[in-house]
Amino acid sequence: MGGSILGEALPSALGTGYSRSRVSCPCGGKARFINNRAKTITTLVSDFRIRQAYYHCSGCGEGQVPLDRLLGLEGST
Ligand SMILES: [Zn+2]
Repeated sequence: MGGSILGEALPSALGTGYSRSRVSCPCGGKARFINNRAKTITTLVSDFRIRQAYYHCSGCGEGQVPLDRLLGLEGST
């Protein structure tokens, strides 16, 4: 392993981040799978257009995208 995920793997190999219909939310609740959302990732090599699974928690109203977290693309830390 090692190196850049984005540089070495085809977007299709990444999948959407979907794992199951519900995932745990930081608030302690459960976030429900809503849909897949398109996203373009720009890298030094090229642009990738991918699809990401989007989850939404009805408890706290927060949305989350597991694939963003996996790739380290979340805007804030
Ligand atoms: Zn929540």
